[in-house]
Amino acid sequence: KSLSDSIKLPEPIEMKENCAINISKNEILAEKISIFEGDITTLGIDAIVNAANSTLMGGGGVDGVIHRAAGPSLKEECSTLGGCPTGAAKITGGYKLPARYVIHTVGPQGEQTEKLKKCYRNSLDILIEKKLRTIAFPCISTGIYGYPNLPAAHAAAYQVRKFLEDNTDKVDRVIFCLFLDEDKKIYKGILQSYFPIS
Ligand code: ADP
Repeated sequence: KSLSDSIKLPEPIEMKENCAINISKNEILAEKISIFEGDITTLGIDAIVNAANSTLMGGGGVDGVIHRAAGPSLKEECSTLGGCPTGAAKITGGYKLPARYVIHTVGPQGEQTEKLKKCYRNSLDILIEKKLRTIAFPCISTGIYGYPNLPAAHAAAYQVRKFLEDNTDKVDRVIFCLFLDEDKKIYKGILQSYFPIS
């Protein structure tokens, strides 16, 4: 009597053609994502993102904190840029910040998903254009600009995932910088579904 007569062996699992590739891709992407809880101006990385307004001349919220920490030279450089439309991004030096550069992006006022996604995509485009490899995002638009926190987190995670899929080898780390307890809870709840690990 052969073994296969006495024991019912499970059917072999049908492997989809690129199944193994997808699993390892998920792991590679997940390794590039972090959460940092606290003040974005303390991060000594290539670039921090500023949730700016369209004048780029400083304002409240994280914008004011970044300008204060960088010192007046940041505003001087910003004054040469001619402002920035909603959804676009522009880069400056980091001056007194530990980060080398600041990428200024202007989020939508209210829930405009495509505009918010553009902020993330355009900031990441500038990062790789400048051959930089590490970036931190605050929760763009969710403060003074009033975008609800949960859909904003979904838009951020979705767009970062999409960008990293297309530019995996060009970015080392994307940090979601979370300042409020509400955002810490939200991101911890949703990131796993965008960056699954087996
Ligand atoms: P917006 O005008 O785009 O809504 P805000 O600066 O008002 O921008 O808020 C964006 C997010 O930045 C909010 O979650 C706010 O709590 C957060 N924030 C405020 N200060 C800091 C900081 N020092 N570091 C990181 N995030 C911050």
